[in-house]
Amino acid sequence: MKTTFSALAEGADISINAAVARELKKEYPIFRTLPNLVYLDNAATTQKPLSVLDAERDFYMQSCANVHRAIHTIGEEATARYEKARSSMARFIGAAPKELIFTRGTTESINLVARTFGETLREGDEIILSVMEHHANMVPWQQLAERRGVVLKFIPVTDLGELDLAEYEKLVSPRTRLVAVTMVSNVLGTINPIDRIVATARSAGVPVLLDAAQAAPSMPLDVKALGADFVAFSGHKMYGPFGIGILWGSETMLDRMPPFLGGGDMISEVRLEGFSVNELPYKFEAGTPPIAQAIGLEAAAEWLSSVGLEALGEYESALARRFLDAIKDIPGLRVMGSARQRAGIVAFTLENAHAHDVAAYLDRRGIAVRAGHHCAHPLARRFGVVSSARASFGAYNLPEDADAAARALADAQEAL
Ligand code: PLP
Repeated sequence: MKTTFSALAEGADISINAAVARELKKEYPIFRTLPNLVYLDNAATTQKPLSVLDAERDFYMQSCANVHRAIHTIGEEATARYEKARSSMARFIGAAPKELIFTRGTTESINLVARTFGETLREGDEIILSVMEHHANMVPWQQLAERRGVVLKFIPVTDLGELDLAEYEKLVSPRTRLVAVTMVSNVLGTINPIDRIVATARSAGVPVLLDAAQAAPSMPLDVKALGADFVAFSGHKMYGPFGIGILWGSETMLDRMPPFLGGGDMISEVRLEGFSVNELPYKFEAGTPPIAQAIGLEAAAEWLSSVGLEALGEYESALARRFLDAIKDIPGLRVMGSARQRAGIVAFTLENAHAHDVAAYLDRRGIAVRAGHHCAHPLARRFGVVSSARASFGAYNLPEDADAAARALADAQEAL
C-alpha cells in the first residue's frame, strides 16, 4: 500500500492522499489504544509513530551512556548515535552539522539567540517582530528590550490575517538589527511570504530569525534557500519526541555570538581564573544534551521525508479547506483570518459560547481541539477575541475527521 503523499492541484479529489493517511495512521500506536480519537490538536503537538518510539527505546536498551569524552564502548556508541542524529538533522534542513544546535525546543532556541546575539545590541537598536508571533518569539525580545533598551517594532496583520508587507518595509531603518518572524501562524494558519521578508531585510543588511515551529512539520526547510540567519523549531510538533528542538544559525553569526549557558561541554578549558569556549556547535550545548530525544527526532525527520513532506503540507491545507467549507454556514461561527496561503490550521469562535465550552463539547464526541489564546495574546486582541477554538490537521487525519468536527460544531451551535 502506498505511504507517500502525492502532489495534487488545489481543489483536486483528496481521496488518494486520504488513503495514504489511513495507511500511515496504522504506524501510530495511540490510535490503536484510542481507536475513536479524532485528534485535531496537531499545532500544539503531534502524535508519535512507532519508528520514533523504537529509536528512543533502542538507544536506551542498547547504548545508554553519556556522550563525548567517554572511553568505554557504549559511551562511544552513544556519542556516535547522537552526532549521527545531528548530521541527519543538518541534512534535513540543508545545513552543516556544526551549525545545528540541539535545544529543548523553539522557545529555548529563540531565548538562546536573545541572550547571546541580543546581548550584543545597544540602547536604541531596533528589532522587527510581527503582531502574529507566538509568545515564544515575543517575550524573549521584550525581556531583551527591558534589559538593554532595545526598541521593538511590529509588522501589522491585515484583516485577512496576512502580514502587511508595505508597512513592514517602512519599519526597516538604519537602526534595525534583527527581523524575527514566524513562517506559519499557529492561530491563523497563514503561511508568510518568507522570501519577500528575507529579501527586504537582506537588502538592508539586517539578519533574520525564522520561527519554524509550525513550518517544520509541513514544509521542507532548506536554510540556504530561506536565506535567513537563524531558524528555530521543535521536535514534538514534527512527530518527534518532547524536550528536543533545533536552533540552526549560520556559522558566521554563531561564531560571533557569546556562549549561552555555562557548564560542561561548552568549554575547551577551565582554569580558576576563567574558561575558554569550545568550538561550534558544542559552545552552545552546555551540560548533558537530550541524547535519546535527538535520536528520536532523527527518526521523525526520516519519517517525514519518507512520506513526502511538501505533499503532506498540501494535504493538511486541503483538509483545512474542507473543514472551512463545511463550517461556513454555521450561524454565529467566525473564522479568524482568511489568508490566501494557509496551512492546516483553523481558529474560530462561536457566538455566545466560550471557546472552552466549544472544545469541551467536541471532546465529548472524541474530537480533540485546542481552546484559549494559543500563546498569542496580541494577535487575539488584534482580532477582538479573548479566546478561540483551533482545529489543526496532521499526517494521520482523514477527511472524515474534518467532517466529524464540522458536524459536532453545528450541533454545538444549537446546544450551547
Ligand atoms: N512558535 C510557534 C509558532 C508555535 O506554534 C509554538 C508552539 O506552539 C512555539 C513557537 C513554541 O514551541 P515550543 O513550546 O515547542 O518551544
